Amino acid sequence: MKFEITILGCGSALPVVHRNPTAQLISVENNNYLIDCGEGTQLALRENSAKLQNLSVIFISHLHGDHYLGLMGLLSSMSLLGRQKEVTVVGPPELEEVIRLQMKVSKSYLNYELIFKPTSADDLNLVHEDKKVFVYSFPLKHRVPCTGYKIVEKQRMANIIKSKIDFFKIPVKEIKNIKKGADFITPAGKIIANNRLVKPAPMPRSYAFCSDTIFEPKIVEYIKGVDLLYHEATFLEELRNRAEVTFHSTAKDAATIAKEAQVKRLLLGHYSARYTEIEAFRTEAETIFSPVELAEDNKVFHIESTRQG
Ligand SMILES: [Zn+2]
Ligand SMILES: [Zn+2]
Repeated sequence: MKFEITILGCGSALPVVHRNPTAQLISVENNNYLIDCGEGTQLALRENSAKLQNLSVIFISHLHGDHYLGLMGLLSSMSLLGRQKEVTVVGPPELEEVIRLQMKVSKSYLNYELIFKPTSADDLNLVHEDKKVFVYSFPLKHRVPCTGYKIVEKQRMANIIKSKIDFFKIPVKEIKNIKKGADFITPAGKIIANNRLVKPAPMPRSYAFCSDTIFEPKIVEYIKGVDLLYHEATFLEELRNRAEVTFHSTAKDAATIAKEAQVKRLLLGHYSARYTEIEAFRTEAETIFSPVELAEDNKVFHIESTRQG
């Protein structure tokens, strides 16, 4: 079952060729979510053969243009393409006003219902739940209110071993309970322990997205132990002062957060337009934490399942 992150844009304020502003498509099985929606996102979705109509929820981190200026275009195209299923947008409270005003002045309307859920940049908050995942927002430290997002897969049930069903003649009505952890009691009263009947369920996977933020140790508690952490790294160490003034992070800052939070992998992005080569981001970060991966437009990062026990 897939859990993958497609990078639709990994640049920062200024778009450059081959590097769009921030947007990521998160696919968990057949559910598709968008985090941030910089300019050009709908074309990047098409380039990656992602169907716009399959998106269910759009999460926006903050109201700097490089994180949401593609949103109106995307919402409008979904309507033009005949979408009727509702779209949920999660983001800073003022975003709803921005969307409604743009609709009003252009005398436009959407064919579908737009559900808006405001975030609050104060604590860890559950902002979305469906059959597959929980999504939480949590505060980052930036020049305007900004939240990161954490997507946590729901616990799946264990897989029952088919040959055991035949061997112990387990009735169909017992199977669900066994998947949930029950033992099986034979008609003769013999107890068959659950661990003889099932393969353990995969561990729930998790992904955290942190963009944009200055180095902020408080983030650690919100993202502890995630399988994959995306953390912005706008600058290299040589421009540490610039990072501090603009409320952004360096590659080393991101690596320090990853290390403190004991995450499994770190993914860097949101590189300043001044950097054409990005390998130095990995080199600097890996002096503190490893493994480090580098976001690049149209690159896909997978989070694999591991079994419990
Ligand atoms: Zn940004
Ligand atoms: Zn920003």
